[in-house]
Amino acid sequence: MKKIVAWKPLPADVLSYLQQHVQVVQVDPTQHDTFVAALRDADGGIGSSVRITPSMLEGATRLKALSTISVGFDQFDVADLTRRGIVLAHTPDVLTESTADTVFALILASARRVVELADWVKAGQWQHSIGTAQFGVDVQGKTLGIVGLGRIGGAVARRAALGFNMKVLYTNRSANREAEEAYGARRVELPELLANADFVCLQVPLTSETKHMIGAAELRSMKKSAILINASRGATVDEQALIEALQNGTIHGAALDVFETEPLPADSPFLKMANVVALPHIGSATHETRHAMARNAAENLIAALEGTLATNVVNREVLVR
Ligand code: NAP
Repeated sequence: MKKIVAWKPLPADVLSYLQQHVQVVQVDPTQHDTFVAALRDADGGIGSSVRITPSMLEGATRLKALSTISVGFDQFDVADLTRRGIVLAHTPDVLTESTADTVFALILASARRVVELADWVKAGQWQHSIGTAQFGVDVQGKTLGIVGLGRIGGAVARRAALGFNMKVLYTNRSANREAEEAYGARRVELPELLANADFVCLQVPLTSETKHMIGAAELRSMKKSAILINASRGATVDEQALIEALQNGTIHGAALDVFETEPLPADSPFLKMANVVALPHIGSATHETRHAMARNAAENLIAALEGTLATNVVNREVLVR
């Protein structure tokens, strides 16, 4: 029987599905040496939220497939996996809608100051009817700029255009005709998007091209009233530049699900800013979606080990060897 390493706890039914096909070794990824030794002795692996470096795979000659319980695969060196002949599978689609819900929650929470004012009520400060000091800004009818209009960006565009009557601008390397037709999304260059959007929403994967794609210059080119929404990966934004832009009033606010360092350090300046909504990377974190992702990743892994995986493959080149 083939052997796989699981570096994330799995739902009982998903674990039992895997055990029908392979021997499962569960490891705690914080025990680095044990984790690396287990990888060396395995045919496959499943997990998420841990960086898997080339050096961790030295001597892992049996390893044929890795399956991440996420759509993003920036935790892996894909070129290195391809060189080693290791298939990498991921879980697109199953998390699209719940992540788009999180993005929209961030848009609404920041515009209407939901978190800040709920804390204000709990602190006993609601002693008279509210005044302009508690007002927010409208979402409906405004312009949303989506940087990276793919699966999740498309689901955000649908909510924005059909639910909130928003204008949608987007940037991509290639056009998304479906979103243009269905939601009136208009493809523009990044400077035009930044200059016109009331909400700038990042939904690109983290790559060498997208790292720090929003820095001091980009923040300066946004409207002073704009709100930056990031539920992609923390490092798509230059965090230090964002902190300074928020402190200086260069932009109005930010709503962030992801950070350059996670968990967010207790001394992060973001935690002291009333105009920042900070969430603990909950994009896809509902019971239903996380279960569907684990199931999907397990099925991807078994299919990859059996040589039948046809979808959800990051490095398709390995399959055609
Ligand atoms: P996707 O369908 O591949 O969409 C990504 C979009 O980004 C595509 O439209 C792509 O279009 C565009 N893009 C890629 N590189 C670009 C570049 N250099 N410049 C401009 N646009 C670029 O992926 P998805 O399923 O929507 O997921 C997107 C990302 O969201 C994931 O990679 C992940 O990091 C993040 N995510 C976060 C959470 C969370 O918990 N917060 C949950 C799920 C996903 P082109 O190829 O035409 O450029």
